[in-house]
Amino acid sequence: MSQRYYIVGNWKMNGMRAALSEARAIDRAAQRLPKVEVALAPPVTLIAAMRESLNGIGVGAQNCHHAEKGAHTGDLAASMLREGGADFVIVGHSERRADHNETNEMVKAKAEAAQGVDMGVILCVGESEAERDSGEAEEIVARQLAASLPDNAQRLSVAYEPIWAIGTGRVPQTGDVAKMHRRLREVLVEKYGDEEGAEVRILYGGSVKGENAAELLAVPEVGGALVGGASLTADGFVPIVVAA
Ligand code: PGA
Repeated sequence: MSQRYYIVGNWKMNGMRAALSEARAIDRAAQRLPKVEVALAPPVTLIAAMRESLNGIGVGAQNCHHAEKGAHTGDLAASMLREGGADFVIVGHSERRADHNETNEMVKAKAEAAQGVDMGVILCVGESEAERDSGEAEEIVARQLAASLPDNAQRLSVAYEPIWAIGTGRVPQTGDVAKMHRRLREVLVEKYGDEEGAEVRILYGGSVKGENAAELLAVPEVGGALVGGASLTADGFVPIVVAA
C-alpha cells in the first residue's frame, strides 16, 4: 500500500481543557513525522479548541446524527461538527452500537451524512468474544461491514476493532488480524470496485500500545490504527506514531 499510515486517537468520553497540553505535544511530535497521518477525535467540547491550537494533525468527532437538522434534542449534525472544526467523524464504534442501539443501517446513514458535507469517515466494525469463539468471526464482520458501508468510498476508512480487545489489553494473533483485514478488503473491492476498494484504509483498533504497534502495523492490509486509552497522553500515543 502506497498510502501513509493513518494513526487516530479516540478520546471517547475523556478530556477536559487541561488535556489540550497533551494534544499539543502530540501535534508537535507529529510535525516531525510527516510520513504518518495523525488525528485525534476528542469530546465535542474540545474540537474547536484543538482546531485552533494544533497545526499538523487532523481533528474529528466520535459520532454524528444522520439527519441534516431538525427535532433531535441533544444531537449534532455533521455540518455542525464540521463548522465547529471537525474534519472527520468516527461512526459505528462498538460502544455506540451497544449503548445507543445503533444498527448497520444507522451507521451507513451517518457515514453518508458526513460524506455529504465533505468530512472523512472512519467506520468501525468488529466481533464479540462469543462471535470470535464461534469460528465465524470473518464472515460475521464481513456481513456487518457490507451492511454498514456508504454508497461511495469518498474519504472513507474502515476500522476493524474486535470488541473483546477494546480496553482489555488483549490483542488478536497477527495471523487473525491478517485474515480479517484480507476478508474486509474483499468486501470493499466487491462494493467499490478494484481501484477505489483498494484505496480505503483499514485500521486496526483494540489495545494498541507503543509496545505492540509495530507488529500490528506490519500486518498486510493494516493501514493504520484507531487507538483509545493509549491516545490520551503524548507519552502513550507518540510511540505508536513513531512505530508507524
Ligand atoms: P483501546 O480502544 O485502544 O483503549 O482498546 C480502542 C477503541 O475503542 O477505539
